[in-house]
Amino acid sequence: PLVLGIETSCDETGVGIVRGQTLLADTVASSVDEHARFGGVVPEVASRAHLEAMVPTIERACAQAGVRLQEVDAVAVTAGPGLAGALLVGVAAAKALAVGLGRPIYGVNHLAAHVAVDVVEHGPLPEPTMGLLVSGGHSNLLLVPDVTCDIRSLGATIDDAAGEAFDKVARLLGLPFPGGPHIDRAAREGNQVAIDFPRGLTSGRDMDRHRFDYSFSGLKTAVARWVKAREDSGEPVPVADVAASFQEAVVDVLTRKAVLACREHGVDDLLIGGGVAANSRLRAMAQERCDAAGVRLRVPRPGLCTDNGAMVAALGAEMVQKGREASRLDLPADSSQPVWQVSA
Ligand code: ATP
Ligand code: MG
Ligand code: FE
Repeated sequence: PLVLGIETSCDETGVGIVRGQTLLADTVASSVDEHARFGGVVPEVASRAHLEAMVPTIERACAQAGVRLQEVDAVAVTAGPGLAGALLVGVAAAKALAVGLGRPIYGVNHLAAHVAVDVVEHGPLPEPTMGLLVSGGHSNLLLVPDVTCDIRSLGATIDDAAGEAFDKVARLLGLPFPGGPHIDRAAREGNQVAIDFPRGLTSGRDMDRHRFDYSFSGLKTAVARWVKAREDSGEPVPVADVAASFQEAVVDVLTRKAVLACREHGVDDLLIGGGVAANSRLRAMAQERCDAAGVRLRVPRPGLCTDNGAMVAALGAEMVQKGREASRLDLPADSSQPVWQVSA
């Protein structure tokens, strides 16, 4: 089926088009520059930007794919989780398209879409797959028997998301928002064992109670204290070393628990998705540890890890192909849609 997907959960207006598991178009308009001076996404600004970008982005996607809107078999849209106003713009646009074209609409979960997108790069998802979802708002270990209808959360962050930690530490170091890519770059010039930052929830007792959970706020505080002590002593802050050591702490815990989850649940395939999956050190360490554990690793290319419309189209196409029921035309935008609720 030819499926058009719309993503507006945060600050990216994404429209993607797939035919089955083949990606035909992936167009993204971002309002990130408008938020940068506030150090975070401003919801009202994001909604307005989605409104302005929606029609041109749909048109660009059709042009890129070389298809006419009338040829689209189904429309998929992120129904949640995300910013309420931002989601509403995408859902309203998708409903308008579905009604106008007389085609079914699939309201899908943004987090499930971060996992499903890998089918356009690496083919059908093994069932089950272990999913490590790491983004600006989430950090989850997911057991995924079927990405179109059955996703189980094994653990999640108990405080900050991994991407949030990257963004906060970047701010401490005077790097621009969003900070993940800047830390990634700075860390390449730094020493990852320069500073021994804490690994949250990995002690013996924590591993009993929070086996597959994550915690990054203690790490962020440790970095803040370390930087402040340096500044107070009048010495320069070694930005690259702090970035590399912080990144190493995050990536160490993420990959350690993900591979452990694969082993304990007898799952042979690990898929990493979400914006933080674009991190070069995460990709490298995950590959090393998966190789050592006999686990196959799948990570979409960086452009498909951060928010985009292709991921929504990809999940929509999987749902069509598996005969899942379409959503009702009055489907709601659900800002706090839980990860196990794949469709609206
Ligand atoms: P969610 O998917 O939870 O709703 P979101 O949509 O804001 O959140 P994504 O676009 O999936 O998140 O990811 C954005 C996050 O990814 C930001 O926190 C950003 O700093 C982080 N990120 C992007 N590239 C990198 C990188 N190379 N290294 C580390 N973090 C990165
Ligand atoms: Mg974004
Ligand atoms: Fe996202």
